[in-house]
This record gives sequence, C-alpha cells and structure tokens, in this order.
Amino acid sequence: MELIDGKATAARIRGELRERAAKLTAQGIQPGLAVVLLGEDPASRSYVTAKEKACGELGLYSRDIRKPAETSEEELLCLIDELNGDPAIHGILVQLPLPSHINSDRVIERIIPTKDVDGFHPVSVGKMMLGQETFLPCTPHGIVKLLEEKNIETSGAEIVVVGRSNIVGKPIANMLLQKTRPGNATVTVCHTGTKSLKEHTLRADIIIAAAGRAGTITADMVREGAVIIDVGVNRVPDDTKKRGYRLVGDVDFEAVKEKSSFITPVPGGVGPMTITMLLYNTVLSAERVLAGRG
Ligand code: NAP
Repeated sequence: MELIDGKATAARIRGELRERAAKLTAQGIQPGLAVVLLGEDPASRSYVTAKEKACGELGLYSRDIRKPAETSEEELLCLIDELNGDPAIHGILVQLPLPSHINSDRVIERIIPTKDVDGFHPVSVGKMMLGQETFLPCTPHGIVKLLEEKNIETSGAEIVVVGRSNIVGKPIANMLLQKTRPGNATVTVCHTGTKSLKEHTLRADIIIAAAGRAGTITADMVREGAVIIDVGVNRVPDDTKKRGYRLVGDVDFEAVKEKSSFITPVPGGVGPMTITMLLYNTVLSAERVLAGRG
C-alpha cells in the first residue's frame, strides 16, 4: 500500500505556481484573487483565511471582502459586477454556502466566466462536460492531479464515484469520462438511490468516495489492490482531542488501507489540493489575460 500524500503534491504544484506568478508579475500582471465572504460562519472564515495565506505565499494579490450576513443580493451582485470589471482581479471566489435570503445560482451566474476560478459557472460546467478549455472545479481537478502524480492508469479503469454533488461527484465523474489522459475510464456514479453500493465498489479499480459520511466505505466493499481516493471530511466525537472531535474521511482507513494499492489519508490527501487548484486557476486566468485571451 502506498499513501497518496496530498501535501507533497500540493507543495510541488505551488512551487511551480510561485514561479509562474513571479514571471507574470515581472510582466506587469500580478495574478489577483478576490474572495468574498458573507457572515461569520467559522468554517467559512477559516477557509477564506487559508486561501489568503496561500495567495501571500505564492506572490498572488489577494483581496479579502467581508460583508455582514444581512448583505442584500442586489448589493452582492453589484460587488461582483465591480470585480468583473477590475483589471487587478483575475479570479473571483464567493464563499459558499451563502445566507438563505440569497440565490446562490444567480450569484454564481453573475461572475464573468473568464474569472470563474471555482469552475462553478454554468458556462464553465458546460465547457468541462464538452471537453473544452475552461477552469476545472478545484476539488475534482485536485483528484485528477493526484492520480497523475502517482501514474495511476485511468484509461480502461472501472471507477466508482460515491456521491453526485455539483462540486465533487458529478464533475469528477465527467472529467474521468472524457476521452483524454487522464480519463477514458468506465465511470459509475453511486448515490443514496443506488440499490447495492457494495456490488459496484467491489468491481472498482478506483473508488472515489465523496458521500460526506464516515464509514461509507468499509474493507468488505473493496477489492484487493484498489486505489482509494477519500474526499470526505467528517467530524467524529473524540474526547482525547482538545476540540472534542477529530476529522475522518468516508473510508474506514485502517481496515481499507490493507487491501488498497494507493490510498489518500484524511486529513492530508485531497484537502490540500483544493486550495492549490484554486491558485492554479487564478494564475492560469492571469496568463490568459497576458496572452490576450482573458
Ligand atoms: P454533498 O453535497 O452532501 O453530496 C453527498 C453525495 O453523497 C450525495 O450525492 C449523496 O447522495 C451521496 N451519499 C451520501 N451518503 C451516501 C451513501 N451512504 N451511499 C451512497 N451515496 C451517498 O457533499 P459534497 O459537497 O459533494 O462533499 C462530499 C464530502 O466531501 C463532504 O464530506 C465534504 O466535506 C467533502 N469535501 C471535501 C473537499 C476537500 O477539499 N477535501 C472539498 C469538497 C467537499 P444523494 O444525491 O442521493 O443525496
């Protein structure tokens, strides 16, 4: 069994991005990311802080825009219009979830696709599905990079994705389905309507678990030598920890690792890749501007 170290891959990619950002800055275009956060949700705040810190480390310009939870949808849309037209900003990220009085779809659709570094705009999603050049969504893109890093063959592989969300399950299934390399896999997508999850996972060369439930994938559901990508991040109570919980994935790591050929840990697997791919898209966006394609 080999552990897939997301921290190491993320660090390598960030090193490359630092160099690309420095080249752009020397040519007068410092890649810039605007992060918009509404409200005080502690998890969202810590994600946003991590994004800003990562921008600083790579020499990217970051603009942190924090607004009260009561901000109106109209005000948020106006802010996005301003950022769309701001040449210092190459990527716009609106931290989700948004307060319930705001229509998230309308907000995402307002971001100009050339600055949609999250890859959530319908234009980006459509282009991804058609296999056209676009910004790929960060977590699925990070997963593909991890598979590439370990030379894990996806062509012809049976891949089972557990979860069909718009941010993980559906896009990763689509990306691995493309007639590209990596890609060209036979992909099955499972969800809560799937009759027998185990029947599917037992056939899989690669399992991508994105259900958001601890213990979704147990050792009896995995065939010998399978590759396991655990996207889930779940809190389980743990009195031995100061904060009263620990983070685990969707996979029963200790038992499943014995049967797998490669496995991602949680934390330290897919997680570090997500912010890295956001920075990747921001640098790419600035490079497109330099090339006159932004
Ligand atoms: P989500 O929107 O809640 O979607 C979960 C999906 O899993 C749904 O499609 C659901 O099916 C399916 N599902 C849930 N329980 C299942 C079960 N027992 N068997 C089969 N399918 C099941 O979650 P998400 O946003 O995709 O995130 C998934 C997990 O990844 C979460 O733990 C999240 O925190 C984590 N995550 C991590 C990162 C990272 O950077 N590491 C990034 C994004 C997400 P239905 O559609 O039928 O309800």
